[in-house]
Amino acid sequence: MNQPSSQPIVDEPFPLPQRWGEAEIELLSEAMRQQSLFYWKGPQTEALYDAFRQFYPLQYLFPCSSGTASIHIALAALKFKPGDEVIVPCITDMGSVLGILHQQLVPVFVDIDPLTYNIDPESTRNAITLKTRAILPVHLCGNPCDMNSMMAIARKHELVVIEDCAQAWGARYQGELVGLQGDLSCYSFNDFKHLSCGDGGIVGTNNEALGLNLSKWGDKCYNRVTGIRNPDELALNYRMSEPLSAICTAQLGKHDDIVARRHRTGMLLHSLLEGIPGIVRTKINPEDTHSFYNYIFRLNLEELDTTRSAFAAALQAEGVNAEDGYIPAPVYRYDLFQTHNFYAGTWPIRDFGLTDMDYTKVKCPVAEEFLDDCIHMPLNEAMTETYTEKVGLAIKTVADRFAR
Ligand SMILES: *Cc1c(COP(=O)(O)O)cnc(C)c1O
Repeated sequence: MNQPSSQPIVDEPFPLPQRWGEAEIELLSEAMRQQSLFYWKGPQTEALYDAFRQFYPLQYLFPCSSGTASIHIALAALKFKPGDEVIVPCITDMGSVLGILHQQLVPVFVDIDPLTYNIDPESTRNAITLKTRAILPVHLCGNPCDMNSMMAIARKHELVVIEDCAQAWGARYQGELVGLQGDLSCYSFNDFKHLSCGDGGIVGTNNEALGLNLSKWGDKCYNRVTGIRNPDELALNYRMSEPLSAICTAQLGKHDDIVARRHRTGMLLHSLLEGIPGIVRTKINPEDTHSFYNYIFRLNLEELDTTRSAFAAALQAEGVNAEDGYIPAPVYRYDLFQTHNFYAGTWPIRDFGLTDMDYTKVKCPVAEEFLDDCIHMPLNEAMTETYTEKVGLAIKTVADRFAR
């Protein structure tokens, strides 16, 4: 076993991009000179629709306060009944499931594919019941889900598909940008995503019946078109305001550049990790474009004489910005689900007999193994080729050091 390098292989700090600048300032200044910062007919919001549609040609849009809000709005617009089920992968952000619970629906967690970490079609098929109404595929890390399978399952069982594109700006499934296949699509502009206004989101659809009502569900059930205020359904206020729309528009101007840089860096790192014993790379379908929200790989600990935490520590000692693990547990293992503490210690739909879901009995073995052996690395558009090559070399060096 060779010793750690005396100098870390990655001998420069993790680069951070300048994410906002003149383009954002210019549009923000424009907004500051307006008489109103309200979204309805607001010039910044109108511009945001156009900027977004240049990439994602969805006819009906509602810019909102978060990715979580975008998913909640999509679910509310579908008007499912309490106790209806929505299938969701168990490796995701809470934002994917909060709207499900708040609409009195049941998140049904399914397992992931061991190599793409995305929702597994077989697991999805097995989870379908008479109460299933929708599937919510999450394009995790910017790697597109197997949408042909998802759409086929949905068509066969008459289910709605809501695409969670929060981590996948610019990712393409078989050449087409994510979010254009499902019935409703949701995106996030939070501070960690490819494009950001601090916190924001957007939900879109080409379905007229759903689309005409998106603003209703994100804007207190007020009818901005007729101006008549007489709410007939329980909706929330998830509006985005003009300054944030201005920032989002400017960010969309950088969409292709940011995605191309991340794609190039991610694919370079991916190629550098090919064939290294003990390293199991994520699977990227050659017809797809991964937009690298981050970079995750798995360890085959049978080929390495170490533990994952020691491996991660060795990477860090070589200057690699890496950590062992991703999210701490599959979502169903969080205390909230284990205790069913959804509404002050109660779960009304279960108390009323509309579901018998028991999250203490849920187990997704592939996801649990994945969380036990994965290594997670942030990736961004400021990483140069030289920097990325050092990261690749450091990972190879550490893996060689621990090779059995
Ligand atoms: C970030 C994220 C969300 C939620 O977005 P917010 O804007 O933080 O509410 C939903 N799903 C996934 C997969 C995410 O990564």
